[in-house]
Amino acid sequence: MLLIKNADLYAPAPGGRTDILVAGGRIVRVSPGLQLPASLGEAIDADGFIAAPGFIDAHVHVTGGGGEGGYATRTPELRLSDAIAGGVTTVVGCLGTDGITRSPAALLAKVRALEDEGLSAFMWTGHYAVPIRTLTGSIEQDLLFIDKIIGVGEVAISDHRSTQPTFDEFARVAAEARRGGILSGKAGVVNVHLGDGRRGLALLRRIVEETEIPRTQFVPTHINRNPSLFEEGIAWARDGGFVDLTTSTVPAFLADGEVKSSTGLRRMLEAGVGPGQITFTSDGQGSLPAFDAQGQLQRLEIGRVTSLFGEVRDAVVEEGVALGTALQVITANPARALKLRGKGQIADGADADIVLIEPRRLEVRGVIARGRWLMKDGQALVKGTFE
Ligand code: ZN
Repeated sequence: MLLIKNADLYAPAPGGRTDILVAGGRIVRVSPGLQLPASLGEAIDADGFIAAPGFIDAHVHVTGGGGEGGYATRTPELRLSDAIAGGVTTVVGCLGTDGITRSPAALLAKVRALEDEGLSAFMWTGHYAVPIRTLTGSIEQDLLFIDKIIGVGEVAISDHRSTQPTFDEFARVAAEARRGGILSGKAGVVNVHLGDGRRGLALLRRIVEETEIPRTQFVPTHINRNPSLFEEGIAWARDGGFVDLTTSTVPAFLADGEVKSSTGLRRMLEAGVGPGQITFTSDGQGSLPAFDAQGQLQRLEIGRVTSLFGEVRDAVVEEGVALGTALQVITANPARALKLRGKGQIADGADADIVLIEPRRLEVRGVIARGRWLMKDGQALVKGTFE
C-alpha cells in the first residue's frame, strides 16, 4: 500500500489539497485526512507537488517506424526509460508506413513486453495500408480475440504514402472496426493518419454524411500539420468529432506551417471547440520525414514521447491554458475516446497511474504506474530489460 499525503490534486480537474491511498495497483480512496500505519506500507509527503493522472500516449511507434529513406532510416524501438521520463504510463502502439518488415505480431509482442516492464500498453491493428493487415484475418476477430487491440490504425489518407483507399474501402474499414468494438466492448475507433494532401478530411466527412457510422468512430491525427488541415479540424471537432494533435516536431516543420500543439490547443479552445474533443499524442519513435514539392525525402528526424507533456507545459506557460484543461488532453480525453477503463483520472477505483509534478517549472518528478514507482524524486527507479 502507498499513501500520498497533501498533494495538489489535478484529477485532471483541480481538486485542491488531498491524500491518495493506493493498494493492489488501484486508487482506493482520494480524500484529505487519510492515515496509513507504517506496518501496512509507505506514506510520502507530496506537499508542494501536483498529482495528475499518468499520461496516455495513444500514438507511439513502439516497435520503431519510418524507413521512408530506405532501410537505414528505420527508427528504433521505444525504451521504457523514454516513457518514464515523459510521465507516460499508458501507451497505444502503432505501425506506420511499413507493414511489411514491421508486423502486428511484432507489435503485440512489444506491447506485452512494455506491460511486463511496468506500463499499461495497447495497440492499433493494421498500418497505413488498406486492406488492413490484421493479426487474425479480420478487424472484427482482432478486436474480439486480442485483449490488447483497441481499434484500427494508423490508416493513411490524403497522403502520397497512403494506399489511396476508395470511399467504399475506407467505409468498410470503419464499419468493421465499429462492429468489432461493439461486440468486444472496446472503442473500435479508427486512428486516421492525415497527410498534407489537399483532400484533407473530405473522406471522413463523406463517410459521416453518407453512412450511419458516427463521427466519433474516428480519431484523425496529425491535425496540426498544416494551417488548412488545422482549420478543417476545428470544424470537425466543433461538430462533435475528436481531433488529435501531434506533439513531436522540429523547427523546420513549424517554419513550414505546422501549428505547434500548445498553440493549437489554445486556438481550438478560442474557436469554440469543446475541451473534451481534443487529444495530444507524441508520434514517438516515428520518423519525421520532410519531403520537398517533388516528393523527394529531404531530411529525417525522430519523434519523442517526452514531447507529449512538453506541449502541455507550453500550453500552460506560454499560451495561458488552465492546467486542468491542458492535462485533460493527455489523460481524461484519450481515456474516454479510446474507452481505456480505469485510465486518465485520479478517482476511487481507478488504476494507480499517477504523475507528481513540480509546480513552478512543471517538471515530472515522480511516476507511479499500476501502483509501482517508476520514477521517484526525479530519478528513474526502473530500466527496460536491455537498458
Ligand atoms: Zn502518422
